[in-house]
Amino acid sequence: MKVADRMETIPFSGIRKVFEEVIRREKAGEKIIHLNIGRPDFDTPKNIKEAAKKALDEGKVHYASNYGITELRDAIAQKTEQENKIVYDPVSEIVVTVGANEGVLLAMMGLLNPGDEVLIPDPVWLHYFYCAQMAGAVPISVPTREENEFVPSIEDFKALLTEKTKMIVLTSPNNPTGAVASAEALDALAQLAKEKDLFVISDEIYESMVYDGNRHISIAGLPGMKERTIIVNGFSKKYSMTGWRLGWICSDKALMSAMIRIHQYTTVCVTTFAQYGAVEALTGPQDEINRMITEFDRRRGFVYDSLKEMPGIKVLRPKGAFYIFPNITGTGKTSEEITGYLLDEAKIAVVPGSVFGNYGEGYIRISYANSYENLEIAMSNMNDALRRL
Ligand code: PMP
Repeated sequence: MKVADRMETIPFSGIRKVFEEVIRREKAGEKIIHLNIGRPDFDTPKNIKEAAKKALDEGKVHYASNYGITELRDAIAQKTEQENKIVYDPVSEIVVTVGANEGVLLAMMGLLNPGDEVLIPDPVWLHYFYCAQMAGAVPISVPTREENEFVPSIEDFKALLTEKTKMIVLTSPNNPTGAVASAEALDALAQLAKEKDLFVISDEIYESMVYDGNRHISIAGLPGMKERTIIVNGFSKKYSMTGWRLGWICSDKALMSAMIRIHQYTTVCVTTFAQYGAVEALTGPQDEINRMITEFDRRRGFVYDSLKEMPGIKVLRPKGAFYIFPNITGTGKTSEEITGYLLDEAKIAVVPGSVFGNYGEGYIRISYANSYENLEIAMSNMNDALRRL
């Protein structure tokens, strides 16, 4: 018996590998501070949980529309119009998905043919690569550079264009670099997408976590872009709802008609009562959410200031998300070696940059989605460990 050829090049996630090693050590009694996880450390706000519980008690336990419950699609349409200034028809242009992950897969499966090439700025969250491969397409790494603050440059995209290029992926704010694309970078990308007739997946899951007066702009709102862009978004990060598995995609009706059919024949619909919690997330009070974001900002400042002073480390102040991506080449070790060293010597878990694509070597990803107190211990341990190196 042999499994599908397409799975041969698709490995287990590198981030999970770090996680499993940490779990093994914790079971053996070691105390490790997790700076390796891409999820907020807060609980889901109570009002959101209550809304889902109420829906469950009221018997919202049956299949929902494939697109998602009407109330949620209306709330997403309203949010997108108010915050992103883009109008989507909640009847035909919005689909509630099992997290942003499913949104990426639907876009790749629904819009790409075998052999089509997808340009993906790198380092990045690797799911795009493997979703493209599962769709039979070919992911192409576009280098992003520290000297450009990890914002992809249009020249780098142009250098990799071929007859087969069909799609661009844009993740702003970015995981793992925290980069936020500027208005100029987005204009240039939009221009290129229109000229070369490309689709754009715009992963906006970190849009609410943008700091220092920077602004998130959705490329879908630029002239002529709605018809070729798929916005991927979700509740996991902003509302601390990773385990709820709730996200959404917005696109022009013509594209959605392809993507909805995959959703129909795979997930059918997202857990019905959970969707009521998501309605509350979007329409209920936002104070707790704003507090979480302010706290991320405070931690970002602390971690950045601490890293800046450490031997062998060079670091940019990230503009968004909850990650920081220091350059560790000054330590003389590879990203995997330094990750192992920090696990042994500082009792902190980080992720080697090498798991984020072809251009992540020389960096590590630190997630500051952990308590301020833990971050203080972690940064102090890391500083001591690097001084001993
Ligand atoms: N997009 C990016 C850029 C991410 O970092 C993540 C999670 N690590 C996701 C999407 C996945 O989100 P979800 O939980 O909604 O599937």
